[in-house]
Amino acid sequence: MSEKREEMQNPVVEINGVNKSYGHHQVLYDIDLTVDRGETVCVIGPSGSGKSTLLRCINFLEEIDAGQIWVNDTLIGYRVANGRLHEMREREACKQRVDIGMVFQHFNLFPHMTALQNITLSPVLNKGVPKAEARAHGLELLERVGLKGRENHYPSQLSGGQQQRVAIARALAMKPFLMLFDEPTSALDPELVGEVLSVMRDLAKSGSMTLIVVTHEIGFAREVGDRVVFMDEGRVVEIGPPEKLLDSPKEERTKAFLSAVL
Ligand code: ADP
Ligand code: MG
Repeated sequence: MSEKREEMQNPVVEINGVNKSYGHHQVLYDIDLTVDRGETVCVIGPSGSGKSTLLRCINFLEEIDAGQIWVNDTLIGYRVANGRLHEMREREACKQRVDIGMVFQHFNLFPHMTALQNITLSPVLNKGVPKAEARAHGLELLERVGLKGRENHYPSQLSGGQQQRVAIARALAMKPFLMLFDEPTSALDPELVGEVLSVMRDLAKSGSMTLIVVTHEIGFAREVGDRVVFMDEGRVVEIGPPEKLLDSPKEERTKAFLSAVL
């Protein structure tokens, strides 16, 4: 582990030898991955390869069976040795989870709340941010995702692309140090994909945020990813800069996947 920690200047996420099963079904095998601060890492791979599970482990929504996950230099995930350790981990996990933004395929906005209310809810409730301050920040974020003037719209009055941009603003409202995206454009009509990717691109280029993006958008991975990870059958098969991994992959499985999707 120490070797890898030295390679990266400032790792935000460090995953070492992680295994994860659901019952008898092992879905992650010996995962190693380190993500540096400010980096954008895109994760690609066939359906069922463990991409979502990996994100859920990073966000402490899943327990791991072996290995370690460090987030911001805090050891969070490790094999649970006894009840007491587990309890400590859970407390720490809740604290960290507040500072990690997650955007899902299905935006899950609260339907009875306006765009702005969706955005300000968690900072006020979970971080004790004063309402006026949360509101001002919320309006700023709406502008940043191209939705100035839509603060009083309800989700049903917004397109899928607009709803997903509200979901991104909602995650950003918590001032996360890390954003996890799980196929954020997969549920969108094709003509709405671009506007969401564009917001993500701006976020990645701002340089201040660390992003892990599970995506089928190979063009996005190529343009925005600092590195691309290819996963298959619960393993990280190959990691590299986009031009290397996408244009001249080393592994047969990567080649086969890319030739099927490109
Ligand atoms: P991906 O996101 O790459 O499509 P997932 O991480 O969702 O892959 O799933 C990996 C494997 O784990 C799949 O075989 C899936 O059926 C299984 N799986 C995912 N979530 C659960 C769960 N909560 N319980 C049992 N099996 C699960
Ligand atoms: Mg998935």
